[in-house]
Amino acid sequence: MKIRDIKTIEERRKFIEKKVKRSLSAIKVYPQGLEAAQFKNCENMIGAVQLPLGIAGPLMVKGQLVKGEYYIPLATTEGALVASVSRGCKAASLSGGVKVITRNIGMTRSPVFKTSGIEKSIVLESWLKNNFSRLQKIAQNTSAHLQLLKIDASIAGRNIYVRFYFDTEDAMGMNMATIATQEVSQFIEKETGAECISIASNFDVDKKPASLNFILGRGRKVWAEALIERKIVAEVLKTTPEKIHEVAINKCLIGSAMSGSLGFNAHFANIISAIFIACGQDAAHVVEGSLGITTTDIVDSNLYISIYLPDLAVGTVGGGTNLPSQKEALSILGISGGDGGENARRFAEIVGASVLAGELSLLAALAEGSLASAHQKLARNK
Ligand code: NAP
Repeated sequence: MKIRDIKTIEERRKFIEKKVKRSLSAIKVYPQGLEAAQFKNCENMIGAVQLPLGIAGPLMVKGQLVKGEYYIPLATTEGALVASVSRGCKAASLSGGVKVITRNIGMTRSPVFKTSGIEKSIVLESWLKNNFSRLQKIAQNTSAHLQLLKIDASIAGRNIYVRFYFDTEDAMGMNMATIATQEVSQFIEKETGAECISIASNFDVDKKPASLNFILGRGRKVWAEALIERKIVAEVLKTTPEKIHEVAINKCLIGSAMSGSLGFNAHFANIISAIFIACGQDAAHVVEGSLGITTTDIVDSNLYISIYLPDLAVGTVGGGTNLPSQKEALSILGISGGDGGENARRFAEIVGASVLAGELSLLAALAEGSLASAHQKLARNK
């Protein structure tokens, strides 16, 4: 008997319990409705792994679509993370909140085509430009919620790497982009004779750290900024704007340059992963969400802080967003389902503001020298 031949979650779990001679009484527990995940989200499902969910905030967000105070759901096992982000939310909110602007770059998929040589590769590059509207029509026939926005191409000998950008409205869009790319690639093969070697060539770049995504963007670009009053830096963050600025330059900029890191930030991945897991996003996209820059400055003796996320892959429909707990976590943010692309944009704005709050608090903890003691106090409680 193979596990894939077993039909129910209960029977699969019992099968594994017998194999490993262990009771899986915790894995057995999950909310009503999660069993549907076995048909869409997780094959060979035997139960669930529960994660603690904490709340940071309230955070005053001043986005283009969201304006107001938000409680941020964070699923994590890192003690001190929720407390730290909460502290950042408090300092930012008392200073008037976090301004956020987003831009929809589009979800990318990149096939690689093989030609007979560089001349044919260049001919294919021109063909793609000249036939853009035909390719757009083919892509749009695959979904009522997808549009081909742009094509980039890069040539290496007989290989031509084609990067398609798709607007996928409120979905993160990786499945939609892949389905559309398949159709478009078949059409290109038929019309040009170039051979599609793979519809996913790592020029996308999906779930890998890459300078290309940093420079061109992927999913959504997000910028957030706040001006934290000197008095609030002292009262809430227990330090000074100058000390935070010094840490930011030496850690986020010089330290990252010294290490060749693509994350010129303090810990984007911490906040992104906790929100992604809470809200049903694809956790593997944290690697892309970890790209980006935190900048600080002193403005009239107050602290200016900004974050730039060039590669945020988020959705409010599709993937894991409809699972019971994840759907509830999104509802804490007042977001439910699709809204012509606006809900994904709302969610991106809240994620951006939360990342800024997390950066602010960690940089302050490093400036005041309390990082180790906070973790010792909050993460080592018996
Ligand atoms: P999806 O669940 O595959 O598709 C979303 C669907 O929602 C679309 O098919 C669309 O229907 C429908 N929809 C309804 N209202 C919508 C709205 N307002 N905006 C957009 N779509 C709307 O989700 P996905 O975002 O494309 O893909 C996410 C999943 O892909 C995740 O589970 C992720 O783990 C996985 N993933 C896949 C790949 C891959 O290579 N395939 C790679 C990485 C991750 P219509 O199409 O009928 O219009």
